[in-house]
Amino acid sequence: MRLILLGPPGAGKGTQAKMLSDYFGIPHISTGDILRAAVKEGTLLGVKAKEYMEKGLLVPDDLIMEIVKERLEKPDCEKGFVMDGFPRNLYQAEGLKKILEEKNIKLDAVINFDVPKEELIERFTGRRVCPSCGASYHIKYNPPLKENICDKCGSELIIRADDNRSTVEKRIEVYEKETMPLIEYYKNEGILISIDGTKSIDEVFKKLIGLLRGEIQ
Ligand code: ADP
Ligand code: AMP
Repeated sequence: MRLILLGPPGAGKGTQAKMLSDYFGIPHISTGDILRAAVKEGTLLGVKAKEYMEKGLLVPDDLIMEIVKERLEKPDCEKGFVMDGFPRNLYQAEGLKKILEEKNIKLDAVINFDVPKEELIERFTGRRVCPSCGASYHIKYNPPLKENICDKCGSELIIRADDNRSTVEKRIEVYEKETMPLIEYYKNEGILISIDGTKSIDEVFKKLIGLLRGEIQ
């Protein structure tokens, strides 16, 4: 199964990607997680990416394409993958197309999460993430079992540095301008599935599995 999760920031891509990754036994590739790890480690990539991430802007395409190309070379991707947060513009989508063509593989589906803007703000405000394993929680909609502690690895949860009001608004603006055209792009490729992302986490997941297994239209 080779999947791409598309949608505005805060739509629930990371949450569903982790669930799909467990369900299908495929790696979850999040360019955002890879960049945050690089910033934390202070690598050259992290130093370069940090200023863009803090402003809610896209990190330059050449850096992103290098990350993705390298990640897709890893043997675990032979089973498939679920990508979240990539591609973010037409240049990246074309770059991915080329990489996949060279490998002689095809995407199975691109899933677009539909969530209105007003709801995104509430999701950002309550989001808490695990700095170690990248798991995403919500204080109201998806709280951890023990307050502020990651269920999966026991680390203390944090608020993402870019989950503040002004950066969030910029990220939504960048999404609308740069990423939204990909909905049409993948519709034209005939592999787009749109899903109502306002339903509960479990309902969205159930719907997704049904759609991917061809049980519902
Ligand atoms: P993205 O990866 O698209 O930026 P996340 O998966 O991190 O989004 O989700 C954003 C926030 O919304 C998190 O706090 C998450 O727990 C919460 N969330 C995700 N899906 C839902 C949902 N279907 N209903 C309510 N809250 C959700
Ligand atoms: P995310 O975790 O997907 O919300 O991404 C967090 C931030 O990382 C974004 O606001 C961008 O600055 C950067 N980023 C993540 N993925 C990409 C990408 N594919 N292209 C450019 N920048 C990205």
